[in-house]
Amino acid sequence: MKKLIIASNNLHKIDEIKAILSEFPFEVVSLKEAGIDIDVEEDGITFMENAHKKAYEIFKIAKDAMVLSDDSGLMVEALGGAPGVYSARFAGEHGNDKKNNEKLLHMLEGKKLEDRKAKFVSAIVLIMDKDSTIKVQGEIEGYIRENETGNGGFGYDPLFLVPEYNKTFGELSSEEKNKISHRARALEKLKYELRKLVQQKEK
Ligand code: IMP
Repeated sequence: MKKLIIASNNLHKIDEIKAILSEFPFEVVSLKEAGIDIDVEEDGITFMENAHKKAYEIFKIAKDAMVLSDDSGLMVEALGGAPGVYSARFAGEHGNDKKNNEKLLHMLEGKKLEDRKAKFVSAIVLIMDKDSTIKVQGEIEGYIRENETGNGGFGYDPLFLVPEYNKTFGELSSEEKNKISHRARALEKLKYELRKLVQQKEK
């Protein structure tokens, strides 16, 4: 069975991706399970650039395996698309969700809800072999609330209001979030493209 390495050690992401790809005959493993320890600098100006760079660097050292990489973040319209590719380190320290949320609220202070439009973006790249690469992007639009609501999820979830539910990602259950999230939407597109490619290769 062909190996597919997920370029992440984030268990939440790995489980989600494993579940979505379960219909395909791939042995899905994390970076750690593949015995790869590499830190690829995310210095691109788009999510797609970062996702591709990471997948490609790992593909070069992963003998004969496929590599899937994703990069995601939040873009706020009134801030010209920030925090964007800097989402994880918006307030300086990588992965400090509390400080990132505080900084975001501070920058949007005084703005009405309709002027706090935002979207989450997830870019996913799957390198299958040297000639076939799939690139997909998923998005979800919403608004940044004036205060954190809900304890679920991670990152900017307690601030991100989903208008259709009138709830933040932090208030939704993980099942609900995983049906509509930017990552879920990108993964659905990936599945569609992958089915087409697998059928073509079988012909
Ligand atoms: P990465 O794709 O793991 O590099 O994530 C980048 C950053 O974007 C995270 O650290 C979070 O701050 C933010 N982010 C990405 N996806 C989500 C999400 O689903 N909820 C909340 N924050 C997210």
